[in-house]
Order: sequence, then C-alpha cells, then structure tokens
Amino acid sequence: MQTGRQGHQEHVASYYAATRNDHRQWPELSGELDADVCVIGGGFTGLNTAINLAQAGYKVVLLEANRIGWGASGRNGGQLIRGIGHDTSQFARYIGEEGVRELDRMGIEAVQLVRDRVERFDIDCDLTWGYCDLATKARHLKGFEEDAQHLANLGYEHELTLVAREDIHTVVGSDRYIGGMIDMGSGHLHPLNLALGEARAAASLGVALFEHSRVTHIDYGERVEVTTAHGRVSSDYLVIGCNAYLNELNPELGGKVLPAGSYILATQVLEKRLRQRLLPQNMAVCDQNVALDYYRLSADGRLLFGGACNYSGRDPRDIKAFMLPKLLRVFPELAGTAIEFQWGGMIGIGANRLPQIGRLADHPNVFYAQAYSGHGLNATHMAGKLVAEAIKGESRGFDLFSRVPHMTFPGGPALRSPLLALGMLWHRMKDLL
Ligand SMILES: Cc1cc2nc3c(=O)[nH]c(=O)nc-3n(C[C@H](O)[C@H](O)[C@H](O)COP(=O)(O)OP(=O)(O)OC[C@H]3O[C@@H](n4cnc5c(N)ncnc54)[C@H](O)[C@@H]3O)c2cc1C
Repeated sequence: MQTGRQGHQEHVASYYAATRNDHRQWPELSGELDADVCVIGGGFTGLNTAINLAQAGYKVVLLEANRIGWGASGRNGGQLIRGIGHDTSQFARYIGEEGVRELDRMGIEAVQLVRDRVERFDIDCDLTWGYCDLATKARHLKGFEEDAQHLANLGYEHELTLVAREDIHTVVGSDRYIGGMIDMGSGHLHPLNLALGEARAAASLGVALFEHSRVTHIDYGERVEVTTAHGRVSSDYLVIGCNAYLNELNPELGGKVLPAGSYILATQVLEKRLRQRLLPQNMAVCDQNVALDYYRLSADGRLLFGGACNYSGRDPRDIKAFMLPKLLRVFPELAGTAIEFQWGGMIGIGANRLPQIGRLADHPNVFYAQAYSGHGLNATHMAGKLVAEAIKGESRGFDLFSRVPHMTFPGGPALRSPLLALGMLWHRMKDLL
C-alpha cells in the first residue's frame, strides 16, 4: 500500500476492485473537444450530474484523473442511508423553517434517486434494504425516538423500528450496544459496481467519458477551457466534482473541504452460521460516535468493517493493525479470522457538515458539489440532480443549498489537517461523556 495523498489507496487491495463486474476502460483525452458542459470527476457527483444533463439533451464531457470510481465513490462503506447534512435546523436562519424541511425531504428523496438509477439502468450492485443505527449511550436512544418522530412528520413511508437492548442481538451479535433503530428505507450496496453501472448509463446517453485525464488547469471565462496532459475541453459550463481529491485545482473550493481518511477491512468469506450470528438480518449498521464504526456483510458473505478517521492526510502504514482492534472490540469472536482486503479513502469534511452545492461567485458558469462529510452515497445523487437543474435554469433545491454559507478553513493546505485533528479530538472527547 502506498502512502501520500495523491499516490495512496490504489484499488488493488480493495474488495470492491477485486469484485468489480465491469472491466471496461475509457480512453484518455487527446486533442481538443467542444461541449455544452464539462464535468471534472468520475465519482457519483460527476457521473450523476452528467447523466441528468445528458438526459436533458446537453453535450457532456466527463474527465476523470484516474479510473471511474477511483475516489471515495468506489471505496466507501456502501451504506445507503437516508438524510443529508447533520442537524439541519441550524440552517433555518439562512433558509427558513420550510427550507430546512425541504432539505430533510431531499435527504429522503436522495435514497430514492439511487434506487431509481439501479432500477432504470439495471445496475448489478447488490442493493439490499435494511439499516440499523446503533446506540452505545442513553442519549443516542433518545435521539432515535426524536428522529423517528421527525421522519414521521415528514411523511417518511418506510418502516422504522426502535430496538430495545434485550432485542439488539436480533440485529447485531455484539454486546456493545444498548439499542437501535431499524430503517427499512435505507440499506447497502457495492459502491464501485454502482459507479461503473452509472458510467455505462452515462455513456449510453451520449456522455463522452475519459479516464487518466487529470485536469491540470482551468481558464475561466464565458467559455471555460480545461487542460489535461494531452487535451483540452472548451464548454459553456463547468462542473467540479472532485470532493476530497480536489487538491489545489481550485483553492477557493479546496479551502472549504478537509480531507480525512477512513478505512475498511474485509474478512475472509464467513461461514453462514457465523454470518447469521454477527448480522442476523443482513443489515448495514453504524454507531453514533464521531469516529464511528460502520459495517455490513458483502454479498459473498464477508464482514466489511469500516471506521476511524485519520486527519493527517496520510494513510496509516498498516491499515489492518490500525483497524483490527476496533473490529475485535465489536466482535471478539473474530480473533483469528483472516483479513483478506484492507483499504482506505478520503472523506471530504465541511465545517457545518452540509454538502456544499453552488456556483462560483466570480464565475457563475462554474458549478460544484462537495463536502458530503462521509455521508455522500445518497447526497451525491441529489447534488447531481440539483446541479443539472441549476444549469438548466430551474432549481429551488440548488438555491436552498447555495444560500447556506460555508467556512473556509484557515491556514492553507498544510495546516488544515492538523486543525481538523484538533476539532475532531474535541468531538471524540464529547463522545466519551
Ligand atoms: C472509506 C470511505 C467510506 C465511506 N462510507 C460511506 C458510506 O458508507 N455511506 C455514504 O453515504 N458515504 C460514505 N462515504 C462518503 C462517500 O463515499 C462520498 O461522499 C462520495 O463518494 C463522494 O463522491 P464524489 O463523486 O463527490 O467524490 P469522489 O468519489 O471522491 O470522486 C472525485 C473524483 O475526482 C477525481 N479528480 C480529482 N481531481 C481531478 C482532476 N484534477 N481532474 C480530473 N479528475 C479529478 C478523482 O480521481 C475522483 O475519482 C465514505 C467515504 C470513504 C472514503
């Protein structure tokens, strides 16, 4: 495993890369192209913006620096969970109470967007319904009751069930938890195969996809021109969907996102009886801590156990050594079970944890969506919808998001990660209370 922000996290050690169901390669950009819209980034944000625009008749070019799904979209926990942002009521002063309710409704609709993609384009990505929030503290249980009430008020149509301590083993075979809340409207899937399926869908709609085509320079103007090693694209609109991997391509946007590493272990394929003991209902689960544990079973019966954030911008030298104690704290009986894959990726954290969806003030034909703060599988799909609507000239949802201001982290790239580390240390201390 290599380290360093650019070179790390090759797909080679990822369970998802080993089980990708599409090996198609897209060409490298070479020469000059004209488009209505150029999209930078081949993750869920870029792919979904491209799909929506192509469906509306726009000529779209998508440029990916590595492979499609190389970033967080092809490495994540695969947990498809309702909701966008965190504690959305804090934004009422910018968008009003009704605006907050609309954000919350979009957080529900966003899961439906993923479901629609999978169904409409027949994407084979192991989509499975069932998710459970897990409590380790009494205040988490109280939070679940409030969430359930809030979702009911919003008209949430999926089954929600509070799970008492004595029943928690029907969801997860661990003594760590004192209760939970099951949500049958959330679930899990194979994220890389979803991204690859969406790339296929985009291509079928006429999007020109390019891999190994890193944008190295942007010339802003009425026509935006982007440059790669061997090519150039000129377009009326530009969409930046690089999230935690943006680096210095646009320092203004980069300054609002802190990259933080999150890591996943995949065990060997577990014997059926053991699987049924660990996660009897095959649900995805998360605890409620800031540096949370998130885990689930893969379609072939492995435990995929993710967690922890590392704020240094570098991977731990040994991901297994870093993560295994966390896994064994939850499932001590897995001591001795082989770990067959280990990998990590960069989460893009924003100061207020609301995804940043907007357009550049000085260059209104340049749009962006980023900073999903580790909860982006659904939110990227909503962002793709809203950015495409805004380019078409009609989006109330986009306007709501763009009215919320986002702090620029002080200190420039070198200081951002240490600052985040300090901030998160504070939150972790609060977890202990
Ligand atoms: C380990 C991990 C676990 C996670 N688990 C979950 C989960 O279970 N559920 C959930 O909802 N969310 C989860 N997330 C978050 C979620 O994966 C992300 O929010 C989401 O995938 C972001 O998608 P994106 O398209 O915006 O960014 P990315 O998928 O990161 O894509 C950005 C792309 O931009 C490309 N790029 C960067 N610079 C350039 C350039 N100059 N030119 C061209 N291309 C460029 C990169 O190569 C990259 O492929 C997790 C994230 C990580 C890292």
